[in-house]
Amino acid sequence: MARNDVDVVVVGAGFAGMYLLHELRKLGFSSRVLETGTDVGGTWYWNRYPGARCDIATTDYSYTWDPELHDEWTWSEKHAAQPEILRYAQYVAKKHDLYSGIDFEVKVEEAEWDEVAKKWHVHTSTGETITCRHYVMATGCLSVPKDPDIKGTDRYRGPVYVTGRWPHEGVDFTGQRVAVIGTGSSAIQSIPHIAEQAKELVIFQRTPNFSVPAINGPQPADRVARLKADRATYEAEAKLSMSGVPIELPTVSALGVPRETAFEMLEKSWQRGELLSLGATFMDAGTNRDANEVIAEFVRTKIRSIVKDPETAELLSPRGYPYGTKRPCMDTNYYQTFNLSHVRLVDLNTKPIRSITETGIEFGDESKEFDAIVYATGFDAMTGAIVAVDITGKDGLTLKKKWENGPLTYLGLTSVGFPNLYMITGPGSPSVLSNMMVSIEQHVEWIRDTIAKMRDEGFETIEPTPVAEEGWRQHCTDCADITLFQDTNSWYMGANVPGKPRVLFPYIGGVGRYRKICDEVIARGHLGFELKGPKNASRVDGVVREIQPDVESVLEAMALMNLPTMESMSPADARTFSEMSSTMRPPGPEVGEIVDGTLPGADGPIEYRLYRPATPGPHPIVVYYHGGGWVIGSHTSDDPLCRELCVKSDVVILSVNYRHAPEHRFPAAADDAFAALQWVAANAASLGGDPDRIAVAGWSAGGNVAAVATQLARDAGGPALRGQLLLTPAVDGSKTYPSMRENAEGYILTKALMDWFWEHYADPSDRSHPKASPLLAESLAGLPPAMIVTAQYDPLRDEGNAYAEALKAAGVPVQHLKAKGHTHTSIGMVDVLPSGKPARNEMAEALRRFFA
Ligand SMILES: Cc1cc2nc3c(=O)[nH]c(=O)nc-3n(C[C@H](O)[C@H](O)[C@H](O)COP(=O)(O)OP(=O)(O)OC[C@H]3O[C@@H](n4cnc5c(N)ncnc54)[C@H](O)[C@@H]3O)c2cc1C
Repeated sequence: MARNDVDVVVVGAGFAGMYLLHELRKLGFSSRVLETGTDVGGTWYWNRYPGARCDIATTDYSYTWDPELHDEWTWSEKHAAQPEILRYAQYVAKKHDLYSGIDFEVKVEEAEWDEVAKKWHVHTSTGETITCRHYVMATGCLSVPKDPDIKGTDRYRGPVYVTGRWPHEGVDFTGQRVAVIGTGSSAIQSIPHIAEQAKELVIFQRTPNFSVPAINGPQPADRVARLKADRATYEAEAKLSMSGVPIELPTVSALGVPRETAFEMLEKSWQRGELLSLGATFMDAGTNRDANEVIAEFVRTKIRSIVKDPETAELLSPRGYPYGTKRPCMDTNYYQTFNLSHVRLVDLNTKPIRSITETGIEFGDESKEFDAIVYATGFDAMTGAIVAVDITGKDGLTLKKKWENGPLTYLGLTSVGFPNLYMITGPGSPSVLSNMMVSIEQHVEWIRDTIAKMRDEGFETIEPTPVAEEGWRQHCTDCADITLFQDTNSWYMGANVPGKPRVLFPYIGGVGRYRKICDEVIARGHLGFELKGPKNASRVDGVVREIQPDVESVLEAMALMNLPTMESMSPADARTFSEMSSTMRPPGPEVGEIVDGTLPGADGPIEYRLYRPATPGPHPIVVYYHGGGWVIGSHTSDDPLCRELCVKSDVVILSVNYRHAPEHRFPAAADDAFAALQWVAANAASLGGDPDRIAVAGWSAGGNVAAVATQLARDAGGPALRGQLLLTPAVDGSKTYPSMRENAEGYILTKALMDWFWEHYADPSDRSHPKASPLLAESLAGLPPAMIVTAQYDPLRDEGNAYAEALKAAGVPVQHLKAKGHTHTSIGMVDVLPSGKPARNEMAEALRRFFA
């Protein structure tokens, strides 16, 4: 095959391009790898600033695809420096004869898709056009330094250095007055070294970063021993971990231990000198702002203990954004450097740079001369190198245009409208939020397997479907929405580049989850892709992940526990089991007052718990019915949800312990529910409530009895109700709906459990009675306004949907929230699943509206 017509063109000869070249050759694909630089190594070729080093322990940041390398190469330090990592890349390239497959000093400038030939034409800076079937951007996530965007940069006549494009021969700052602009990772690594040489060093800081000490030294003995003993297990754990490094997942909340204990735990993490340790000390650091603040304050305490000048210490202390939402840095003596008398920190918020001049910098009300300026102003991350090439796909669509409001990809690997184009560690993949070596290898292998399959099965093109791409965008958003990332102006969010869209560029669902998804896509026949060849075509359309990520994590954790099913227990044991599980959950918010009491049920006294807001009353009253399939649960079993509804809606919640089956079968629960409602209405004033503002609410079987009580109240001519809030209610036990089959297993409430509940509660002949199945009532007209919440992965989803539709048809005002990606139980899990919060907020809002 001609050199200018190959199977695959790969742009970039960093670790990604190198490994891909190796794999393509192994499979007999012809390829060209094109690289702007003069050598392999990518990041480690360009970033030669003093102090540049890996901040993931280098034992983890190593190729795994050539097992011989583990014996042939020994890292001299825990966090190896740039020259050593570059030597490693060169060693691998030589060993595997990769140099012969790479064209250096060649920049790819344009690429366009040829719909007739079903190939890409790639144009280079040397004037060559190369035609290829598959086109891979292995161009790196942090390979395009960002323009400093400061007035007057071109005026300065002295030497200018950019950390990401450092001169190969090095720089000697001895005796010089040096300015460093920026305090991100590269600055934090280089500043202590520059300070050692410079006569005077001024650092211009816009936003302080969190930095932890590398505590560098030889490779950690325990890690080396573990790798020697069982490398395979270690690597497998890394691949399925959150960030590509196997670390123990935290189980403690930062808010669940006293501050002193929390700081002791953080001190241990700090002393480990690992990038991920501090953030992985507590389970809620990434999702709960208050928990995160414990870590942030710990780091600020450290800064204050190191930096002698309190004003400088305060300036270096990050505030106003959560720890980890900007890339945390690793340093060696960064904070200590500010104790040196010739080092000064300038806060750009109070002394902005007015202009760079011919000889120095004008800032605030000062003007200073410098012998050299160092720009450590970061990168146009993740998308910069991709859109720097003019890529034109089908129908003249350019990638730049398509991405102007944010990158749209399927799996971060491909994009609709650009057949046979692949990105390695692209936006929408874990990428910069991971140990990149693990992510690079996974992407290379996915691309390799995909194009091998295409060749074997006679396909010429592969392109994701719009449905799959939109589904992936939504899943990435779902993952981001439950974290604190959205609140921070970071390069993860594109906020460092003017005009760049503000979305979370990397996928934050974790390396392990992401890998499983990518594997699943292949296992399901390339789900979400259309493959076409001259003789055959395949299109398996669909969305690979719709379940909320935190809900999925809980389901996975529960599956691992291998708990006995409730339906295999006696009702008594099921109750004990359920009560024990409840003791482990967060309590929910504080309310003004809790009062326990009894009220007359339909056949004797029953207990209740009243939750009163801290605000002055009288309040509206919501009579609440707990979930538990009429068999388990009590007036206290939905405590966190009742507390939250009380606080958020500013209402009294009165939770009722209606009688349970099988001791008290149908219609005991329904009769008690109505009796409780009547009693509350008659006693509202003495309960501190407003008799004219009463509503009902219930979850699951509680939703069933709430709906029934509402109908009974209508039929009895009172009490008059302002509304009914039904969360994933059971409303029709007479038949099996499709969702009961679809979600029969795997989502906590199973079909088998629901059958068990019904068996205990009501005879089959009773299940068509409207007091058991309120959907079957003769008329639904005249009922109070309803808010109904149904969940996508709930066996009861379709009956809830049917009730909402039937109420609407009967003229009842209905707000129907179909909670995407949720299960029967997930929405009510207060302070456990952040993804349920928006739905609960809407429920609280609905209660407020009932009483407005
Ligand atoms: C200072 C620094 C420190 C880092 N430390 C870590 C760390 O500790 N742990 C970690 O996991 N990751 C780290 N990273 C991220 C690092 O980029 C990745 O780990 C990894 O090296 C990326 O490899 P790559 O092959 O995907 O891309 P790169 O190494 O960036 O290589 C891409 C190559 O593509 C070339 N290229 C781009 N566009 C074109 C074009 N149009 N035509 C031709 N050639 C082109 C570039 O010249 C470059 O050589 C760091 C990044 C930086 C900048």
